Amino acid sequence: MSEVILSVRNLTANVDGQQILKGVNLEVKAGEIHAIMGRNGSGKSTFSKVLTGHPDYEVTGGEVIYKGENLLEKEPHERSLAGVFLAFQYPLEIPGVSNLEFLRVAYNARRKYQGLEEIDTFDFEDLIEEKLSVVSMNPSFLERSLNEGFSGGEKKRNEILQMALLEPTLGILDEIDSGLDIDALKIVSHGVNTIANSDNAFILITHYQRLLDYIQPHFVHVMYDGKIVKSGGKELALELETTGYDFLDEQQLVEVGV
Ligand code: ADP
Ligand code: MG
Repeated sequence: MSEVILSVRNLTANVDGQQILKGVNLEVKAGEIHAIMGRNGSGKSTFSKVLTGHPDYEVTGGEVIYKGENLLEKEPHERSLAGVFLAFQYPLEIPGVSNLEFLRVAYNARRKYQGLEEIDTFDFEDLIEEKLSVVSMNPSFLERSLNEGFSGGEKKRNEILQMALLEPTLGILDEIDSGLDIDALKIVSHGVNTIANSDNAFILITHYQRLLDYIQPHFVHVMYDGKIVKSGGKELALELETTGYDFLDEQQLVEVGV
C-alpha cells in the first residue's frame, strides 16, 4: 500500500476574521494526482496557502498531517525544506534577484537540509540546463531577474522549473493553467508529468477540465463554500464541464434541509 503523504482533517481557516475554509477533508497518497476544482471564491487558493503556511491565513481548527508530522506547526520555509512546494497562481516578480541565483540558493538550502553537500556554481549550471529541458526553457531566462517581465506562460514555466529542481514530495499547483495558451499548457503539463512519480504526489487546483486532458488525475474533488463537497474519478471533471457548478447550489440546499 502506498504511503499517505498528506492527511487533512476537518480543516477550518479564517482570513481577516472571516471563515473561508469550513471543514476540508482530503487524503493524498504517494503516486497520486488529485485535482481540486470549483468556482472562483470557493476557497481553493486559500487551501493552498494554508497548506504552505501563508501568514495571512489563520487556522482555526482541524489538522494537517504531512508524512506523519503536524504540518501546521512548521514555518513556511520548513514546509518547503520538507518537500512541500506551491506553484503560485500569480507568481511574483522580484527585480534584482537573479533567477539563476534564486534557484541555486533554494536548491542548496534543500541539499543542506537533507544532509548533502552544497553544489558549486559550475555543477549547478549543468544541473539546471538539464532541468530547463523539462519545460523547454531558454537558458537566457536564468540570467534575468526572477519573473521580471516574464509573460504569463513564462512565469508558469519558471514555477515548474523550480519544481523540477526541488523535486518536492507534495507539489501543489494553483491554477497553473490560467492564462496559458495551448502550447504553453502542453509544455507545463509535460513538465508535471515528467516530475510525477510513485514517491511524490500532486494537488492540481484548476477551474477548467482542459488541464486534465494533459495531466490525468486519479481523483477529482469539488470545492464549494470552503469544503470538498464531492469527490470522484477523472469522469467527474468531464461531468462538471457539461453541468457547470450550478447543481451544487441545489445540492447544498438539500443537504442543509431547506
Ligand atoms: P478560489 O481560489 O477558489 O477562487 P480563494 O481562496 O482565493 O478562492 O478565495 C476564497 C474567499 O476568500 C474569497 O471570498 C476571497 O475574497 C477571500 N479571501 C481570500 N484571500 C483573502 C485575503 N487575503 N483577504 C481577504 N479575503 C480573502
Ligand atoms: Mg484561486
